[in-house]
Amino acid sequence: MTATDAGDCAGRPPISFELFPPRTDAAAIALGRTIDRLAEVDPAFISVTFGAGGSSRGRSLTVLRYILEHTDVEPMAHLTCVGSSHAEANRLVREFLDAGITSFLALRGDPPEAADGTPDADPDAGLGDLGSAAELVQLIHRVQQEREPFGELGVPGAPRARRIASRPRPERVAVAAFPTGHPRSRSLSQDVDTLLAKEVAGATLAITQLFWHADDYLGFVARARAAGVTIPILPGLMPVTTPARLARLTELTGVEPPADLAIALEVEPDPEARAEIGEVFAAELCGEVLRGGAPGLHLYTYNRHETVLSVLDRLGLGASARHG
Ligand code: FAD
Repeated sequence: MTATDAGDCAGRPPISFELFPPRTDAAAIALGRTIDRLAEVDPAFISVTFGAGGSSRGRSLTVLRYILEHTDVEPMAHLTCVGSSHAEANRLVREFLDAGITSFLALRGDPPEAADGTPDADPDAGLGDLGSAAELVQLIHRVQQEREPFGELGVPGAPRARRIASRPRPERVAVAAFPTGHPRSRSLSQDVDTLLAKEVAGATLAITQLFWHADDYLGFVARARAAGVTIPILPGLMPVTTPARLARLTELTGVEPPADLAIALEVEPDPEARAEIGEVFAAELCGEVLRGGAPGLHLYTYNRHETVLSVLDRLGLGASARHG
């Protein structure tokens, strides 16, 4: 079976995308066009990253508001809690809820770097009150409950009776998962245990770090299920079409790419042929995880629509398939 059969097999699985907040006005204008194009495939949500320590707060909110006001797509805000006090994190969650954002990806974020540029050796050094994504998940639910007090509803057939309405919940509270292990976790079982703790705290969805082999994702899901994790685990995938981007991603995530993909991108001089290599690789990986039971695809876009839309077209999941 080829990657192009995946859409038929899985019956149009939900697609979602990740963007990051742009740094310049020109990039912001281009991102508006990208969001409009991504919206055409009717994604389940579009998530927007958040600089650890809140460095991108305003710019992230601007992108989320654009999605909210110009498309029918659900915006999802990444939030990090590293270095935050409870009071600061509480204010942050309220600010996003006030802006109309009800879906979150709750993250711990990375601790500040030591003076020599290396990640802080002590995982808890320099942190505020909140030490894990699980605590942020709980905080998001708590803030939402505090904002929306219990309501009262009528009881059909009993005009004077009232019943308590259930409190509105945030639409989604997603968390990160690491199929090949978080770079600083001691064992793969620690990553499964952390995911379970995040589900117990109230997470409703997990989104994975990128991976390059379907078995890494499928094996992680199997281990998570065996440990009692029940929430959907969305595979996070990034089509990569240049050797420079692949090298940067490896540096950022610590996830080693397959040597044949790295070599094929490196030796191919023609940019169009290189793009095709990256897209075909990504489409095949998407097809494999869908056929293995993945509940959808979460595509890291690098703020460009062309490559991810082309991958979806190859899978038969592009805009024409959605609206046709
Ligand atoms: P947790 O759930 O608290 O921990 C996850 C795993 O890592 C556990 O196994 C835990 O034990 C281990 N771990 C975490 N930190 C340490 C440590 N210091 N020492 C030992 N073990 C540790 N970062 C951003 O700043 N902004 C973003 O917008 C953002 N978006 C992301 C989106 C996705 C889908 C993913 C997968 C990651 C994203 N990150 C982002 C990166 C993330 O903040 C880091 O990977 C961070 O180190 C862990 O965050 P977490 O929420 O997974 O933490």
